[in-house]
Amino acid sequence: MTSSKFKFGPMPDEKGYFGEYGGQYVPEVLKNVMDDIAASYKEVSQSRDFQDELQDLYTHYAGRPSPIYLAKKLTSHSGGADIYIKREDLNHTGSHKINHCLGEALLAKFMGKTKVIAETGAGQHGAALATACALVGIKCEIHMGIVDIKKEHPNVTKMKILGSDLIPVSRGTATLKDAVDSAFEEYLKDPVNFFYAIGSVVGPHPFPMMVRDFQSIVGREARAQMLDYAGGLPDCVMACVGGGSNSIGIFTGFLEDENVRLIGVEPAGRGLDTPDHAATITKGSKGTLHGFRCYVLQDNKGEPLPVYSIASGLDYPAVGPQHCYLKDIKRVEYVSITDDECLDAFMILSRQEGIIPALESAHAVAYAMKSAKEIGKGRKILINLSGRGDKDSDFVASRLNL
Ligand SMILES: *Cc1c(COP(=O)(O)O)cnc(C)c1O
Repeated sequence: MTSSKFKFGPMPDEKGYFGEYGGQYVPEVLKNVMDDIAASYKEVSQSRDFQDELQDLYTHYAGRPSPIYLAKKLTSHSGGADIYIKREDLNHTGSHKINHCLGEALLAKFMGKTKVIAETGAGQHGAALATACALVGIKCEIHMGIVDIKKEHPNVTKMKILGSDLIPVSRGTATLKDAVDSAFEEYLKDPVNFFYAIGSVVGPHPFPMMVRDFQSIVGREARAQMLDYAGGLPDCVMACVGGGSNSIGIFTGFLEDENVRLIGVEPAGRGLDTPDHAATITKGSKGTLHGFRCYVLQDNKGEPLPVYSIASGLDYPAVGPQHCYLKDIKRVEYVSITDDECLDAFMILSRQEGIIPALESAHAVAYAMKSAKEIGKGRKILINLSGRGDKDSDFVASRLNL
């Protein structure tokens, strides 16, 4: 079953490279700290106790395995391939993010760190991390722009209830990028004792590898579930790509299955021919951002461009290094979906199946609907539904005048 065409050795290499992407583009002091994290991670990934504890939390706390579901009405509405949905929206806290937040919080505790620090944009990473830190019993500090704090009230309240310290950031445009700068400054005060919990498969080595490994539970489950429930592997697996964690998580389960097409769906926002999108792999060029080499949406001076998507979890001007490599070797295809197509899919999945998706995940749903006919009847599409749409419901209702 395993093909010779896609035989992957261990990725990344010792220095954290996936082909020419990844690595550690950070000051020397941080390089040492990152190497330390990599060594501890190697230790825990071989430790039976640690792996058992994590698996136990996945099962009894987060609610894994998440189900796979054949969306019959969505399938007939789309008029082609059978559409299966991997229900990461049913996890505790409502998205795939809990998978890596539990792993990172346990690792921070194992390393004896005194505080976990992170930034958050829409508050999804912040709320999932605050949850994991409350559970594991470690101090958590979340930096968030005041513009986002006003917009994302429910997540802000959750983080406070869960006992994390919320640091409002008012510099610059007071949004995600400024929150990153602020969180990073705090981290630099004591990187030996603090742990910067990155929220996707991005940043310096070992984060793209670690977060991928924590998310690969999604792909392992999905592959076994498809064989069992759908009677065979899917023909196509689709997932939305922001930083790239939910997509790499599900793709990892199928990388060596040559006949399974893997499709990453990027946000085309108001259109790829406008500046208002965040389709990094589709439109970006090679560069370096936030400590690693990857495709970047950048101007001709190498400054990251402002990015936009209706789904705030997808608007990031860089993308995980493994995705860049998988694009170059043509193992994964990258496509894009506009805001309008996303909204359409959001409503159709809600009304056909009674599942309200996150706007991020609705990008994958939209591409499945769009391509189902061409993929063809009798074939199988598997979508990773990365999260639920409670956080987006008010916004969509007002946008569509419901
Ligand atoms: C954060 C988020 C994403 C985007 O992040 P990736 O690292 O690309 O997976 C997608 N879906 C949901 C529901 C999210 O919360």
